[in-house]
Amino acid sequence: MDINPSTTTGPVNQLIKELSKLPGIGPKSAQRLTFYLLRASDEQAKTLADAMLSLRQKTRLCSACFNIADADLCPICHNDRRDKNKICVVEQPQDIIAMEHVGIYKGLYHVLHGAISPTEGIGSEDIRIKELLQRLNVIQIDEVIIATNPTLEGEQTSMYLSKIISPLGIRVTRLARGLPFGTELEYADDVTLTRALEGRQEL
Ligand SMILES: [Zn+2]
Repeated sequence: MDINPSTTTGPVNQLIKELSKLPGIGPKSAQRLTFYLLRASDEQAKTLADAMLSLRQKTRLCSACFNIADADLCPICHNDRRDKNKICVVEQPQDIIAMEHVGIYKGLYHVLHGAISPTEGIGSEDIRIKELLQRLNVIQIDEVIIATNPTLEGEQTSMYLSKIISPLGIRVTRLARGLPFGTELEYADDVTLTRALEGRQEL
């Protein structure tokens, strides 16, 4: 649905246009959110704007695992009670949220920020694999659990990681196939994710 620019003012059109660029927000939702904010209190609008700004200004990537952090290390790397001998490799920071929600994994993570995808021209050097190998060289790791998505890209990445990590003498496992092919970890329910983690298999 196109918004007719002549019927609304510049700032309204501008916010609708910007919100429409967000994932999952179509023009109609963008319009609804914009008119909601137009009626909201100054304070509510300001709190939202401040939260959006500080998201960019006050977050960075953890220097160890590349999770989202507000300090040099993310809360998981910073936590002394985590099992520092296990690393779970995920594609995106939001996958950590899914895993943590399940709550049975107590080790560390490594966020690749993507997956190998020859069709999209994304190779092993374009995601944080080099940094993972550096970590494996520096700290004593007993097991690497590969929790990339059960998609073509996730499987390719998993196979590649297994090929380069296994020769280092580190146990490499992959989440069990309980996750339906094509789903993304971030959207898996807790029960499925728990089964996938408990039933992880050697690679
Ligand atoms: Zn971290």
